[in-house]
Amino acid sequence: MAENQLGGQQVLFLPEGATRVLGRDVQRTNIAVAVAVANAVKTTLGPKGMDKMMVSDLGDIVITNDGATILSEMNVEHPVAKIMVDIAKTQEKEVGDGTTTVVIMAGELLKGAGELLEQGIHPTTIIRGLKTAADRASKILDEKSIKIDIDDDKTLQKIALVSMGSKNIGDDAAKTHLSNLIIKAVKQVMVKDPSGKLVVDHDFIKLEKKTGGSVSDTELINGVLVDKEVAHPGMPKNITNAKIALLDVALEIEKTETDARIEITSPDQMQAFIQQEETILKERVEKIRKSGANVVFTQKGIDDVALHFMAKAGILAARRIKKSDMEKLSRATGGKIVTSLDDLGSNDLGFAGMVEEKKIAGESMIFVEKCKDPKSVTIFIRGGTQQVIDEVERSTDDVIGAVSGTIEEGRYVIGGGAIEIELAKGLREFASEVGGKEQLAIQKFADALEVVPKTLAESAGMDTVDTLVQLRSKHNAKDGANYGVEIFRNTVADMGKLGVFEPKKVKQQEIYSASEAAQIILRIDDMISSRAKSGGAGAPPGGGMPGGEME
Ligand code: ADP
Ligand code: MG
Repeated sequence: MAENQLGGQQVLFLPEGATRVLGRDVQRTNIAVAVAVANAVKTTLGPKGMDKMMVSDLGDIVITNDGATILSEMNVEHPVAKIMVDIAKTQEKEVGDGTTTVVIMAGELLKGAGELLEQGIHPTTIIRGLKTAADRASKILDEKSIKIDIDDDKTLQKIALVSMGSKNIGDDAAKTHLSNLIIKAVKQVMVKDPSGKLVVDHDFIKLEKKTGGSVSDTELINGVLVDKEVAHPGMPKNITNAKIALLDVALEIEKTETDARIEITSPDQMQAFIQQEETILKERVEKIRKSGANVVFTQKGIDDVALHFMAKAGILAARRIKKSDMEKLSRATGGKIVTSLDDLGSNDLGFAGMVEEKKIAGESMIFVEKCKDPKSVTIFIRGGTQQVIDEVERSTDDVIGAVSGTIEEGRYVIGGGAIEIELAKGLREFASEVGGKEQLAIQKFADALEVVPKTLAESAGMDTVDTLVQLRSKHNAKDGANYGVEIFRNTVADMGKLGVFEPKKVKQQEIYSASEAAQIILRIDDMISSRAKSGGAGAPPGGGMPGGEME
């Protein structure tokens, strides 16, 4: 490295206090950081994994088992740690589940790559090997995955329960209840795209939560739950067979600019002015009434005078609704969001069997329910404490991802580490075909996949080496391809028979994301940090990690 710099052409002028690390040193540090991040979430993997309690500097407490949440709460400083956090976030965004696995796998890939670097193998060769391995793993995954019929709710429920398995959110009855709700919700909002493919937009499954009751009281609302109250006490609190106007129109007289003054010189003029305002608002309300609407949701404000007229007309109205909620209301009720009252006709109105304000835990919320085939629904999460409903929400999010991923892709795989052992086996066979130095990287990829069963065994208190040996031998025997870690009985068993199923889509994303992250990190051989602060680039491994301090 030194020669490189001295004899080299590049001369860099760094600002005072800046640090620069080059070549092998930076790779070593980066790998150590990635491994430290992976280790931080490792113990949470699987149903026997532990929870983490995170306390922010404001004293807020989060108790979770969710990899993406843990990492984003950690406030890591090192840029490589940030990359690791990003892959968890991407995994969360793309498929909703598998966040812990992807981070652990990336850490393990880098650990393996680090060993190859020590043996003098060039990073480019390793990167090429990782890429080849990921492609091959994904091909094997294709072959090993199983087709699902979307009417097969039993299998979908198993997938949902496995995804929920590791989360501490209630007893089996509560989990079964939740998984059924989620499957219903996903199927309700799923649509066929022009090519005939089923797609599920997660945004249209709204999650609302309020403490109170128990997790089993969580309900699916065939429509939208709006966290607002009816805008005027004189308005009805519930309306059956609601015809709903969705407005992006202000029902108030726009305030004049501050420098525009209206000169009023006599009480008569004042009276006339007020009257004129009233007339305008009355006309606007009249337009709404004429359309046939008996419920109004508007993104903008509604003036008290307008509210009064609406109440007199028997209309239930709520104002200042979030744009995202307006879109959900539109999808659920079939109504169109109208930007001018002149355009409002009966065709634009949405429908709901019931619109009702209910008091939940002392707060009023408006339930827009019993919609006809709504393409937007709400899961209303209940539970004893804030920590519980927060974790239920995160888990629901994962399960929505798992169920919709399975439906979209139409395929699932056998979990509990079984699929990873199969992939590793396939990759090892492939590696010998490839030969050369690249095969070493492919072998490391196979090893990295096995970190999943290894970690599952570890958190169940099993001997990891022994478990791996047993699993490999099962997978080499006839009918052993579904063997994985039976964490509840501390043995290896057929995970297919136990119904430990996972979406193929989640595994696919794990393989690609982990491999990509490892490649990105390996490609870095020069790290310049303009911050003189310790804990920045080039800091010792673990700098800015949890276990130390959370900043
Ligand atoms: P992630 O954030 O990666 O989804 P989880 O904590 O949800 O992490 O754990 C997922 C892993 O746990 C998967 O490998 C899955 O196969 C495994 N798993 C889930 N349920 C079981 C079970 N009952 N027996 C064995 N393994 C299980
Ligand atoms: Mg999971």
